[in-house]
Amino acid sequence: MPQMPNTIPFRKSLQAKPLIGVATVIFVISVFVYIVVPLVAEQKMTDEMIKHTKGIGSISASSVSSALYFEDQETIEKVVQDIREYDEVRYIAVLDTTNAVVYETHKGKYSAGMPTFPNQKDEYRIINSSIILKKAIIQGKKSIGFLLIEVSLRNVQKEIKQFRATIAWFVLVLFIFSIVAVILLFRPIMRRLKSLVNAAESITNGAFTERAQTLGNDEISHLAIAFNTMVDSVVRLYNDISYTNSNLEKIVEERTAALMNEVEVRKLTEENLIVARNKAEESNRTKSAFLASMSHELRTPLNSIIGFAQILREDEEVTARNKHYLDMMYRSGAHLLDLINDILDISKIEAGQLDLYPEQSLLADIVESVRSIFSVKAAEKDLLFIINLDTLCPISIITDARRLRQVLINLIGNAIKFTDKGSVKLLIEVVNVSPEDKTFTLLFRVIDTGRGIDQSQMDRIFKPFMQQSSRYSEGTGLGLAISSKIIEKMGGNIHIKSGQNQGTEFYFELTIESPDFSQEIIEHTDDNHRVSLEKIIENQNLVTLIVDDVVTNRVLLSVILESIGFECHEAENGKQAIEMIESLNPSIVFMDLMMPIMDGKEAVDIIRNTMNNQTLPIIAVTADVMTSTKESLLEIGFNDVVSKPFTIDQIHATIAQCVHIDNDKTLENDNGNTESHIDTENDKELTIPSIVSYLLTLPHNQKEALFGAMELQDFDEMLRIGNTEITPTLSMSTILKRFQSAAELYDYKFFSKLLEEYSRNKS
Ligand code: ADP
Repeated sequence: MPQMPNTIPFRKSLQAKPLIGVATVIFVISVFVYIVVPLVAEQKMTDEMIKHTKGIGSISASSVSSALYFEDQETIEKVVQDIREYDEVRYIAVLDTTNAVVYETHKGKYSAGMPTFPNQKDEYRIINSSIILKKAIIQGKKSIGFLLIEVSLRNVQKEIKQFRATIAWFVLVLFIFSIVAVILLFRPIMRRLKSLVNAAESITNGAFTERAQTLGNDEISHLAIAFNTMVDSVVRLYNDISYTNSNLEKIVEERTAALMNEVEVRKLTEENLIVARNKAEESNRTKSAFLASMSHELRTPLNSIIGFAQILREDEEVTARNKHYLDMMYRSGAHLLDLINDILDISKIEAGQLDLYPEQSLLADIVESVRSIFSVKAAEKDLLFIINLDTLCPISIITDARRLRQVLINLIGNAIKFTDKGSVKLLIEVVNVSPEDKTFTLLFRVIDTGRGIDQSQMDRIFKPFMQQSSRYSEGTGLGLAISSKIIEKMGGNIHIKSGQNQGTEFYFELTIESPDFSQEIIEHTDDNHRVSLEKIIENQNLVTLIVDDVVTNRVLLSVILESIGFECHEAENGKQAIEMIESLNPSIVFMDLMMPIMDGKEAVDIIRNTMNNQTLPIIAVTADVMTSTKESLLEIGFNDVVSKPFTIDQIHATIAQCVHIDNDKTLENDNGNTESHIDTENDKELTIPSIVSYLLTLPHNQKEALFGAMELQDFDEMLRIGNTEITPTLSMSTILKRFQSAAELYDYKFFSKLLEEYSRNKS
């Protein structure tokens, strides 16, 4: 806010302007009146005097002309003396035509002096405050002389001087009067303005009750009224603002207090949350540790139960009844293992630790493993179990085959469990092929004709531990929860189409990378390596070291490995193993992870880094599937990982992958594999039409059963039916070999072409 000045300099004050204005105007008028008016008056009076002088001259010239003509000195004198009577006349002279003075007279001191008048005519001059007139004296139209008269202008000048003095006085009086008038006129205005300013100053300094005086009905009182009204508004506004401010202050105080409170509460909540989170993390860690140790503790005895049950089942000396018990034991063990796996999976999912391990696999392998698990179960319930792969399906895919298999097993397992009659189908269709991305989009459909799922239950059943509310069924209610999470992780979603008693379809789409585009198709792994392995190892004196602190585990592995020709040695911990490796030089080591004295990881570290042995295959055998991932174990130097409980086939497959086997000996001994290769000569003859035309000659029942099994892709059944021919002809055995090789290579196209040809021929 600009500060109001205490004093205003006079030249800037409001009254200075009219004062200066009036003074200037009066000054200008005075100058004009004082200079111009006397000048004009002087001129006018001089003119009058000239006229008067001329009049005297004319009269005197005519009066003196006769006397001069007659040279009458006395009359001349008399006339001149008459002229002298005039007050202003100072000098009179009568001259003849030669300018000689005839008579002259003067009053006082002659001042002007006689000028010379060269012309003969009348004229006058003004010299030194005198008018000097020369007047010709005419006698009978002839100039006989001159009259010279000097008239003083001193009186005129005196009058003018007096006039000027009068004017000066007048102007001075006028000036003073005007100034006084201006001052008097402005004083009340200034006083009222001053009071307005004082009021404004007082209000500015906080005297809000102060108001300007509003006397009379002039502009200043209007200004004062307007000023007062404005001050009223400002005061009202000020009061409002003060009120709002004080209110605001109160609100701010209250809010600040509330905020402080809130901050305190938040701090407390945060602290509580941190405590709670730490507790939760702690209990999560405890849970994980508990699950890991439980899993370890359960898997270790399960490993023995399942393993020995498997070994005993195959013992020829075991009676059929005991085999049945062993089967039950094996199945119960396997069921228990499923439960443990499910619980571990769901806790991994909840902890966000479900990881996928994609690797190159044969789609047919995955499908086949599913088929082999369920074909018996389906047959037991008299259900038609159909697996159909689109002919465009890729051969190899890059996916976590174990997890995909797990989902399919869950869905098909449920389908068979909840279907009492009709069929269960697994259909795999190609929805999209993208050669640029090297991907296939596959649609997996598991369709059953079972009891169906109520609409209201459809979302529920994907939640852990949920089963259809109205019905109890065996199972944990975890399968779908796990499966849906696995498929989500793979980039898909499981959907359901179902209704009560209308059957159920679970389906999901997955976009899966395939090496088919780059032709890098992996060799099909022979499930039947067990037979060949036995034969291979027999003659090679391969030595294995089994490292485990639990004796039953060591015995189980020894039995499995000795059965295929290994020479087995055992160590109880990593330290012992290291010592034995040096002396034994084994071909493969099976190493448990958790052992006293020195655990498996430490032992591997020493073998790889201290002993610098990089070539020895070391297989981790672990019951702990929670804390160590396969990747982490491969990273620290293991060649492969086998989880407890393992199957005999898993052990065989691992050996086949890791142990270097002498190829020459393999060829000599490997009848199993060479048998399955097809003679190319024969192969050429075996065209689809020739096979079909041969098969058409078979008995009706056998033919129908064979093509029925072919439709269901039940290759074992096909071979069984083919072999029932009492005396297999050469053609039939060749055809069967072809079937077998096609089945081993999962050459579904071959069989679908056979079926096509068969139905064409039939019709
Ligand atoms: P579980 O089968 O172990 O009980 P799941 O999570 O696999 O657990 O299935 C949850 C529930 O969903 C089952 O208990 C069953 O009630 C229902 N369900 C799953 N699949 C089917 C199906 N094909 N037909 C009918 N009901 C099914």
